[in-house]
Amino acid sequence: MKKARFTVGDDDSVKTGHVEGERLYVEGTEYSFEEVTFLPPCRPTKIVCIGLNYRDHADESGLPVPENPLIFLKPCSALIGHRDAIRFPAQSSRVDFEGELALVIGRRCSAVGTDTAFDYIGGYTILNDVTARDIQLLESKMTRAKGFDTFAPCGPWIVESLDPSNLKIETLLNGELRQNSSTAELIFSIPTIISFVSNVMTLEPGDIVATGTPAGVGPMQVGDVVEVRIEGIGSLTNIVR
Ligand code: MG
Repeated sequence: MKKARFTVGDDDSVKTGHVEGERLYVEGTEYSFEEVTFLPPCRPTKIVCIGLNYRDHADESGLPVPENPLIFLKPCSALIGHRDAIRFPAQSSRVDFEGELALVIGRRCSAVGTDTAFDYIGGYTILNDVTARDIQLLESKMTRAKGFDTFAPCGPWIVESLDPSNLKIETLLNGELRQNSSTAELIFSIPTIISFVSNVMTLEPGDIVATGTPAGVGPMQVGDVVEVRIEGIGSLTNIVR
């Protein structure tokens, strides 16, 4: 089942519906994608990101593969939905895309082992870990570089059941393929990530854990269209303003 959150027209009441083909369904009412505004597909208390979790991306960054998952947070205020605009901040001159598979927590999760980690995942979605690369390289902390408003496009929906072990992941910039990998290339597996993070902080239902980006990250300019596609989930598209 694919579940989306959206509004329709001028009515700002939030609807949760399921997706079939190119249509959204809520209690017998049907909507086309064109007539809705997609919202982020969940309401997290935190967005946990994993840095350097694909070997080829660590290589292109000139950084060693970490011994343990490298985690950081993005503020929930950075969340936007499918088709919303990423705002290019005046403080940066280089803003990069990072296409990532994101886990959505289904039930409260604290200090779990790898053997039960999948029991706490409610579904899968796509997150673009937008990054002000110049600021990231300038500062030892990632909060500012990763935390600008609109720097966490997420969606378009949550896929509840999916085998995430070998999904094609691609990012296209203005239709041109820039990232092309598979979740089979993750250094730290999904159970390892859930176990590691939940032994640091309790994960609540709706929390997002982004699993890292493959090689091919690159800059976006105002006016660009960025699309992250993950097999079995769909396509998250945003423009840069
Ligand atoms: Mg990232």
